[in-house]
Amino acid sequence: MTTNSAQVTIFPPIDIAFLYKVNKIIGESKDVHSAMDALVPVIRPYFIFDNVVLFLVDPLTLNLEVAFAKATGRGRSAEADVAWGEIIGSQVVETRRVILQEPVDSIETDRLRRPHTLGLPLLEKSEVLGAIIFIRFGSPPFTPDQTAFAEFLTDHLAVLVARDKLIKENSRLEFQYRTFQVQEDFISTLSHELRTPLGYIKGYSTTLLRTDANWDDKARQEFLTIIDQETDRLEDLLNNLLDSAKLQSGMIMMDFQVVRLDALVKDVIIRAQLHHQDQVFQIEMPDTLRPIHADPGRLAQVLENLVNNAIKYAPGSPVIIRISVVPDGITLEVIDKGAGIPEKYQSKIFDRFFRIPDQISVAHGSGLGLFICKQIVQAHGGKLQLTSRVGEGSSFRIFLPTQP
Ligand code: ADP
Repeated sequence: MTTNSAQVTIFPPIDIAFLYKVNKIIGESKDVHSAMDALVPVIRPYFIFDNVVLFLVDPLTLNLEVAFAKATGRGRSAEADVAWGEIIGSQVVETRRVILQEPVDSIETDRLRRPHTLGLPLLEKSEVLGAIIFIRFGSPPFTPDQTAFAEFLTDHLAVLVARDKLIKENSRLEFQYRTFQVQEDFISTLSHELRTPLGYIKGYSTTLLRTDANWDDKARQEFLTIIDQETDRLEDLLNNLLDSAKLQSGMIMMDFQVVRLDALVKDVIIRAQLHHQDQVFQIEMPDTLRPIHADPGRLAQVLENLVNNAIKYAPGSPVIIRISVVPDGITLEVIDKGAGIPEKYQSKIFDRFFRIPDQISVAHGSGLGLFICKQIVQAHGGKLQLTSRVGEGSSFRIFLPTQP
């Protein structure tokens, strides 16, 4: 950095300690906006300016976007908008050069009409990322030392902007990758889950249609039952797919009504018992229960899903349904004493298409059920949470607020 001995310095000297401080602020800032916020009060005593604006080049439109602007000192009483910096900002970006503009009219006495403007490009290798413009109304002009400091500042800010850009690019790629993975999972789940029931339906109907074989009534009944069950499975899968797509795009409307939870729970259990005659169910609820506001069809769907999961993934265990009254609402727990869910999978269990890898062969499923349940409970203003310990079982707990 140069020193001009003829210059009367009215600012503290720009020394190593100051540069170190500036560098540290930039290095520790999470983005360029917070860096500028922290820097402005620190650099102003050394480097007086009234307005500062930082433009970044939008990579798509190539327009200059304001990333930070601040009017201090005399700038605050002037028009503090950023339009003043746009022309010089564009020139700086175009020429990739430092531009220093001095007031044209030296006899003008109004300071606000005698702006000293300093524009610097933010460069990363051959790419121009943006520009920073400082304006000072009236004298003194920017000294060579201060211009050199502004260049130092701009170089370091450029590193931060480039880092921001890289982080954004990374998260964009990560998002694309995750979307791609979800699509892959979607296709493999769909093809597997559709193929299996379709295979049965096709196989048994072809068998029944054979003219060279005679099936007795019992065999015919058995084949038709399988076709019927597999068609139900297909229908469930399609409904789940539709529900999950609609829930994700917020297209499902809840039909809130006054609901008696005890009656709803009993209905669900009666239906489940019809399909699983040996299954033991236990219902625990207080003697009196106030009605709640809910969509009865959707709430029954959630409960049915949790109960069916307990039956599927905790075979041999009783299924306990516990209703409790808690402050501000009601909780409904579906508890099993099965194998439990390892901790590493617990945070993923409500994700679309997630299935515990070891359990894929244990029971049919699409990994959509719990995702749908969570969305429905959230649409009631409630929460769905899992507590589970390997070897001890799982508890899915729905909290529904008294006022949805
Ligand atoms: P699906 O049953 O169709 O696979 P879900 O979204 O309902 O989809 O469940 C996701 C996964 O969570 C299941 O594949 C299973 O691995 C696991 N899971 C769900 N409920 C239980 C439970 N009660 N005990 C153990 N694992 C469970």
